[in-house]
Amino acid sequence: MEPIRVLVVNSGSSSIKYQLLEPDSGTIIASGLVERIGEGGGAIEHTADDRTLTEHRDIPDHTAGLRLAFAKFAETGHDLTTAGITAVGHRVVHGGEVFYRPTLIDDAVLNTVRELSTLAPLHNPANVRGIMAVRELLPDTPQVAVFDTAFFHGLPAAAKTYAIDSKIAETHGIRRYGFHGTSHEYVSGRAAELLGRPPETLNQIVFHLGNGASVSALSGGRPVDTSMGLTPLEGLVMGTRSGDLDPGIILHLMRTAHLDVDGIDRLLNRGSGLRGMAGVNDFRELRHRIDAGDTAARAAYDVYVHRLRHYLGAYLIDLGGVDAVTFTAGVGENNPDVRADALAGLHRFGIVVDPELNTAKARGPRRISPPQCPVQVLVIPTNEELAIARAAVTVTEKGQ
Ligand code: ADP
Repeated sequence: MEPIRVLVVNSGSSSIKYQLLEPDSGTIIASGLVERIGEGGGAIEHTADDRTLTEHRDIPDHTAGLRLAFAKFAETGHDLTTAGITAVGHRVVHGGEVFYRPTLIDDAVLNTVRELSTLAPLHNPANVRGIMAVRELLPDTPQVAVFDTAFFHGLPAAAKTYAIDSKIAETHGIRRYGFHGTSHEYVSGRAAELLGRPPETLNQIVFHLGNGASVSALSGGRPVDTSMGLTPLEGLVMGTRSGDLDPGIILHLMRTAHLDVDGIDRLLNRGSGLRGMAGVNDFRELRHRIDAGDTAARAAYDVYVHRLRHYLGAYLIDLGGVDAVTFTAGVGENNPDVRADALAGLHRFGIVVDPELNTAKARGPRRISPPQCPVQVLVIPTNEELAIARAAVTVTEKGQ
């Protein structure tokens, strides 16, 4: 029997990331990135069977981008229109109050995802464009939306409620939704597997530290708190986002710097975080600059780590103690300094990082705390594509 294959699509405003994979084994057949859609000077990089194809050309819209990706699939021996793929799984950023599990996409679902754009104006419209493009090219293949917010749907009221006028909050859907849910769910599940314990028996803290960054607290496999809120702007310091702020700063900037909504949006989402403080958002470059004596880079790093510890402390108390602290995503998986500094000096809480295990050249899921420590400190590579592909198959098989 042919193995089941799923195409996973992560459609951004000017890019499409995709992967064709076999959800049972996790084998990646091909993957790629279409960039600069609608901006002129577009490009695609497509990898299959250790062969990478690149092409530069204008890509006017998402359908053209996807068509180009399909052409590359065909060139590398995987014609998607005839390959009989089981489903297409889409990463959709905001599911609002409505969607809290992977959902088969029909017209009504697509419309609701579009309507939820008020909550995620940068993300949901781009997700909709990706879904429409796939519909055009693969009209008979089931498409499934997997929502970044879904895992946090059941957050306790005290954790998800903002202390503002409750009527205004209700009218405008203002609550903490949380994001990166697919990753937090996948990684916490893998952590339980690595420890050989059922997730129901564990208190966990998971740091997802990529360009965007968030942390979650889980009790018995369910999230009880998370750092991102109504939007992915809240919480940790990120590559280009501020994370937590005094909301009065926004009022102050409107009054004194005369910034309008778009100016504030740009400042907080794209011109803040590490980039705003140090001029770079890539952690590797930040490290080089720190090593070269750049004081702004050092200060930005210190603010980043201070915020990590702030949330760690809060979640330790939220949970009343923790069994595992796990790091994932680009920075969490690859940067031993961040892991060591975030957890430094916490032995009295049972949290210790072993310097050798922490700096060992390893890639897979691993423990970096000494064996006898009560709190297991782990590094677990995230794999949102695999989680999305598996969810897509489950939904398709159920025919929901
Ligand atoms: P996203 O998916 O949010 O774009 P990633 O999870 O890919 O982000 O993480 C991007 C970040 O991870 C960047 O700051 C990058 O510098 C950092 N990173 C990726 N690989 C490494 C590495 N090998 N060493 C140190 N940092 C890394």
